[in-house]
Amino acid sequence: MDQIRLAELLFPEIIEDIDHYERFYPPRALPDEACVTRIGPSPTGFVHLGNLYNALIGERLAHQSGGVLMLRIEDTDQKREVAGAVEAVIRAMAFFDIGFDEGATLDGERGAYGPYRQSRRRAVYHAVARQLVLRGRAYPCFATEDELAAMREAQAARKENFGVYGKYAPARDFSLEEIERRLQAGQAYVLRFRSMGDGEHDIRVLDAIRGELTMQENYQDFVLLKSDGLPTYHFAHVVDDHFMRTTHVVRGEEWLSTLPMHIELFDTLGWPRPLYCHTAVLEKIDGETRRKLSKRKDPELALEFYQAEGYAPAAVWEYLLTVLNSNYEEWRRDNPQLDCREFPFTTDKMSNSGALFDLDKLNDIAQNVIAAMPAAHVYDQLLAWCELYDAPFAALLKRDRAYGERIVGVGKHGDRPRKDIRSWRQAAGFLSFYYDETFRREDDYPPAITGELRQQILQAYLDGYDAADEQAQWFGKIRAVAERYNFALKPKEHLHNPGKYRGSIVDVSNVIRIALTGRLNSPDLYEIIAIIGERRMRERINAAMKA
Ligand code: GLU
Repeated sequence: MDQIRLAELLFPEIIEDIDHYERFYPPRALPDEACVTRIGPSPTGFVHLGNLYNALIGERLAHQSGGVLMLRIEDTDQKREVAGAVEAVIRAMAFFDIGFDEGATLDGERGAYGPYRQSRRRAVYHAVARQLVLRGRAYPCFATEDELAAMREAQAARKENFGVYGKYAPARDFSLEEIERRLQAGQAYVLRFRSMGDGEHDIRVLDAIRGELTMQENYQDFVLLKSDGLPTYHFAHVVDDHFMRTTHVVRGEEWLSTLPMHIELFDTLGWPRPLYCHTAVLEKIDGETRRKLSKRKDPELALEFYQAEGYAPAAVWEYLLTVLNSNYEEWRRDNPQLDCREFPFTTDKMSNSGALFDLDKLNDIAQNVIAAMPAAHVYDQLLAWCELYDAPFAALLKRDRAYGERIVGVGKHGDRPRKDIRSWRQAAGFLSFYYDETFRREDDYPPAITGELRQQILQAYLDGYDAADEQAQWFGKIRAVAERYNFALKPKEHLHNPGKYRGSIVDVSNVIRIALTGRLNSPDLYEIIAIIGERRMRERINAAMKA
């Protein structure tokens, strides 16, 4: 076969060769230990947690080693592409504080190893494909869908492996004339890799998370270029990660099964293999079973979910790190004050058998993270979320910043800060009682205190109220009201002598609490009154007496 002629036929327009690109994308001038990583989301309109999960690993590996993190848009499947999806990925990653050094940006791209959108790298793929044709390691295959389906049936009937290989790859042996004739007839074709494997041998590949893997070698003549001339994932991955000088390929374990293809390509091209880091699938506990997170069933698989619910990016980071590295929680206990980026992240502390996601755990972590966050930050993030998702509450928050900071700062001081807030959505509900516009009674008054008694108690409380009272005096007056109306000062006393008292001091406090906050669960009342002020306190108590 005249490979030069074949290459000319297939790639009449290509002028550059591989050496050109080797020079154009020179090895990076970085120290040996620096990791160059990337994420390669496909713009399908659905940014999932896996994207962030892998991005975070790449970000840590790159930035804690003085390396580079890239955002590469894998848009070679034009049928699946959705308008606006690239922007959505970029915004989502920015929202979650993943800082890329290179790659696609909202107004173009940044970096010397681009283009970073695969659809714009056609010339690079074609240069490499042409080289493979010249070496006899790639050939055009004209098989139609029907022919491939018939072949599959024959393979099934004979209990043979599926795919295009050996005797099931007739186009391997087409003559140049045959190829020329078909090209002239305008027949569609794909460019296939000519594998040298027979599946009889094993290959060994080092995976940073899984250790050394032993796998059956590739023997499939897989597709390099599709009929539209764009590369398959397999080809684009190898070409891009070589020329972008990626050192660590962090990707989901769904790519493990095709890893032998990638290895044969890297080896055939004489390019060094990157270090693969195949991350575990994201799973959850669903009743009795542990299963993969599903796009259809689990809203929490979409990154949008975390934005819409208003989880602080810092909380999501903190949570993902606990899922990612088994020693993170211990480190955090020992270093409560440090930024999570100071944690020495390693791939060998990562699980390879499924990463378990648990919203309860996320909520728990988010509460801790927000409890430790300065009130001004809480206010800013809450407001930013409300501006997008709860405009009326945003307007209330904005009316008085100082007031807003005080309400989100309640219970922050002291050794055991309150953990009232886990997400901005929940916070907007939780804080609603601080504003007359959103205040409403959500819980019932204690059954021990009804009708006239409630009015008497509230009136007695109001009569005794003095804004100058310290907390102890203020509470002393509530105790006095309790005693006067025959409520036990200790809940236990009432419990042990149910006939003796109407109830306990808790009931009395709760009447005031419900009058002021509308709920049975609230932060410290004294602190709340200090914030809402005496006038509003009196108004609410008076209103409760009438209700
Ligand atoms: N486009 C691929 C995906 O979304 C990227 C895999 C990779 O990182 O290599 O799964």
